[in-house]
Amino acid sequence: MSWKDNLIKIQPYTAGEQPNKTDFIKLNANENPYPPSPRVLKAIREFNGESLKKYPNADAAPLAAALAKRFGLERENVFVGNGSDDVLALCFRAFFNSGKPVLYPDITYSFYPVWCEMLRIPYETVPVDGSFNIDSADYRRPNGGVVIANPNAPTSIGRELDFIRDILHHNRESVVIVDEAYVDFGGTSAIPLLKEYENLVITQTFSKSRSMAGMRIGCALGNKEIISALFAAKDSYNSYPMDSVAIAAGVASVEDEEYFAQTVSRVIASRERLSEELRALGFELPDSSANFVFAEHPKRSAREICEYLKTRDIYVRYFSKPRIDNRLRITVGTEQEIDALLGALNNFL
Ligand code: PMP
Repeated sequence: MSWKDNLIKIQPYTAGEQPNKTDFIKLNANENPYPPSPRVLKAIREFNGESLKKYPNADAAPLAAALAKRFGLERENVFVGNGSDDVLALCFRAFFNSGKPVLYPDITYSFYPVWCEMLRIPYETVPVDGSFNIDSADYRRPNGGVVIANPNAPTSIGRELDFIRDILHHNRESVVIVDEAYVDFGGTSAIPLLKEYENLVITQTFSKSRSMAGMRIGCALGNKEIISALFAAKDSYNSYPMDSVAIAAGVASVEDEEYFAQTVSRVIASRERLSEELRALGFELPDSSANFVFAEHPKRSAREICEYLKTRDIYVRYFSKPRIDNRLRITVGTEQEIDALLGALNNFL
């Protein structure tokens, strides 16, 4: 018996590749191609560095207050964390303790099984149909919780409020997490349902629509008891996950609604163009409600296309996984990046 036998044995989440070079087109991690709001940059420039000698506000209170105001919620309904991955991990820890299996679709964000493994939470995946649609009727069985990404990733499909309502309606005894990482790009937020369902938790992120993936800000919205449980979980492993600079920059972002709306509409317009041109090249893809598309070419292998694009310094995401191993998840870039991508695809095909 060696100490090595006691090291954690887990297959960790694999993030999009970050090549060790500067001049390439990165469409593999669903980042925003535009910079954060000028107000965010100003807040960082003007940040009082001396204040770093003190711990940050443990509850990220200024940012939670700004978010509560924006969403028309109370301060007690908002939890802020170090990226929505951090918030989601805390949610799994805080809410899924029944011993019954947690349910989520077989094709969804691949971090969910990793948190379940790490936290020893039993889980069952529920197959989506051949068009990657989730059937809410599949979530009418005993469970220890439900997790739905809406819009879903990597499929890009967004669903209406009735779909989420149906899942909530049939799952009043467990916590239902709706992961809204991509909701700002045309999805429908479940925020209006918070008043009706006390077992609903919504998570959102600043990494996509707010162009702040490098800053690590995410949040959870829910009723008071849900949010208190998250604070208890946070304070049991790290009292200060949000640093002071991130709190200040986050507030500045939330206060610039105009820039946010403009950036989001630019990405949406480019997504529509990208989808149309990919279809013209023979690709098949569902209508996207996110800042990426999920495309397949009926005649060419996705792996091959992905490898070819790398030779042209364009990185897209390929998952070598059952049911989706002929698909590419392509992030919506700038218009020039899309031109380069389409040019390369045209050459390849
Ligand atoms: N949820 C989904 C569905 C995602 O795709 C991502 C991004 N990988 C996240 C959550 C986490 O994003 P972040 O930690 O940057 O907030």
